[in-house]
Amino acid sequence: SEEKSIILNSIRDIPDFPKPGILFKDITTLLGNPQAFDTLMNHLEKRYEGYELDYVAGIDARGFIFGSILADRLGIGFVPVRKQGKLPYTTVAEKYSLEYGFDEVEIHIDAFGEEKGAKVLLIDDLIATGGTAKAAANLIDKVGAHCVEACFIMELAFLNGREGFNSEVYSVLQID
Ligand code: IMP
Repeated sequence: SEEKSIILNSIRDIPDFPKPGILFKDITTLLGNPQAFDTLMNHLEKRYEGYELDYVAGIDARGFIFGSILADRLGIGFVPVRKQGKLPYTTVAEKYSLEYGFDEVEIHIDAFGEEKGAKVLLIDDLIATGGTAKAAANLIDKVGAHCVEACFIMELAFLNGREGFNSEVYSVLQID
């Protein structure tokens, strides 16, 4: 569609970042393009306005940008899922595997309030293997909320990262 090509054309490909052989999808050019940024946020707002969500949770760090704007547009709260060691209060953590070794994401234990079963949308800029987002979705469930859907601006579809999610998975752009 017209709207998706405006968004896609605003994202830049950087070869060999952060390592040789990786084609990095750079969203800073999308953020710097007000027409493309607004087109994206309008698309997301329209998709999620009927979901009756309680929170948007964004993944460190690019998920914070899209997630906080979306939460504000929907009139609901924003929750950061952070890399290990960044959150000041009591946290729950989840490890996930990388190509070499592992990484860890954390969430505040009380991030979704007192009541159990809050409906949460998880958001990040890109899904590759899905390891990061699955760990984040598990954290949301661990602290007593419910991850309704995981949303990404881009999906590297050939990596099949959407397989194995308990929640629904949505991506604006699929890259093959
Ligand atoms: P995954 O855990 O393999 O799905 O990797 C996804 C995580 O790595 C997300 O937090 C992304 O922000 C980041 N990531 C991986 N590749 C790219 C890229 O090409 N552009 C932007 N972020 C990326």
